[in-house]
Amino acid sequence: MHKAKRIILLGATGSIGSNTLEIIQRFPEDFQIVGISAHTNSQALAQIANTFQVPSIALSDESTYQSAIQAELFSKNSQVYGGDHALDQLIQETQADMVVVAIVGARALSPTLKAIQKGFDIALANKELLVLGGSFVTQAVQKNKVRLLPIDSEHNAIFQCLHGNNSKDLKSIILTASGGACRDTPIDQLHTITPEQAKQHPNWSMGAKITIDSATMANKGLELIEARWLFDLQPHQLKVTLHPESIVHSFVHWIDGSVLAQLSPPSMTFAIQHCLFYPDKRTNPKPSLDFDTSFSLNFAPPEPKRYPCLQLAYQALEQEPYGGAIYNAANEIAVQRFIEKAIRFTDIPKIIQHALKHIQVPDTLSLESLLQIDQDTRDYALQIDPKKL
Ligand code: NDP
Ligand code: MG
Repeated sequence: MHKAKRIILLGATGSIGSNTLEIIQRFPEDFQIVGISAHTNSQALAQIANTFQVPSIALSDESTYQSAIQAELFSKNSQVYGGDHALDQLIQETQADMVVVAIVGARALSPTLKAIQKGFDIALANKELLVLGGSFVTQAVQKNKVRLLPIDSEHNAIFQCLHGNNSKDLKSIILTASGGACRDTPIDQLHTITPEQAKQHPNWSMGAKITIDSATMANKGLELIEARWLFDLQPHQLKVTLHPESIVHSFVHWIDGSVLAQLSPPSMTFAIQHCLFYPDKRTNPKPSLDFDTSFSLNFAPPEPKRYPCLQLAYQALEQEPYGGAIYNAANEIAVQRFIEKAIRFTDIPKIIQHALKHIQVPDTLSLESLLQIDQDTRDYALQIDPKKL
């Protein structure tokens, strides 16, 4: 008998979350949503819980949770977890086959590690957790023999290109980058970019943080570190090319000189659907590439002066095992300060650079020390005076 895949969707109210729900809604026989989460968007979460009859729900913001309970927002038949430990509890107390990790930020690390320990497959959109704790996640995946399927479109492309090949024959991978909102801004005008401008992505519709990260290319920097962990690569094997059309999602370059690519229109639905059904495939109503019309694809090396965050990611890779944690935390705080208009667009890489230089790290690695470095970096990045940058 056909068995529906039981899915926990962390970050159900976000951009990846909604795309995931749209696919699941098209295949009611194939999936059963057994758990969902949001942070503050309780109304939308209640609506999703209702539409999909979800038995277990987590609201990770404590005060939102309290208000939702008071307002009796959720059905009495569902189990609702709230506050700091809500995501961990949801994972701990729910049986599932796959967890789609679509929340933003390093907070995804703990529930994802728990899910791996429980033997659930992971479809991973969140990149921050690999950048922060890649060694712990990949070790746990191997130990518990679960699948770690990348939703991030570039890594999904590489995952697809590697299929059936021997990864020891890989020369390098080339991540494609759209260049983001400021790709045509004169370099000497970048300091005038406002948060509203940085949030306008030319090709993709995504959450605010990742859209700003695309404009600085910190997103590509995070993706280089993400790729390092997902595919066990060395820094010299990680490359980036600017590809304004966002149709080629990445390349794999083999030692014999041939290059493979994965192509689809710029919509996350292709990568998400690939992960949800892996290793099977299903039809997709979204228009695919149309080779009856003409179109062209362009590639160019990114300008280092426009995208200093990219170079800093290589520096972070050299500073393993803590470089990724520092890079990610400094960037998160810098973006938050930029959104609040406390710093300029061009201050974002400067804050990352200062943090990589000044944060003191211990000689040995543990999960506790990693989380401590994450916190130290946040405190440091918050107190940097922009006038001194
Ligand atoms: P969104 O901002 O659209 O959604 C984020 C989700 O996470 C929401 O459900 C939100 O809940 C929840 N959330 C926000 N803050 C917290 C918190 N502190 N603790 C727990 N949950 C929280 O993000 P995206 O969907 O764009 O991105 C999700 C992840 O996927 C990110 O790591 C991003 O880098 C990655 N990604 C996204 C892509 C995209 O196309 N959007 C592409 C590739 C990767 P609420 O609604 O209540 O705030
Ligand atoms: Mg990506």
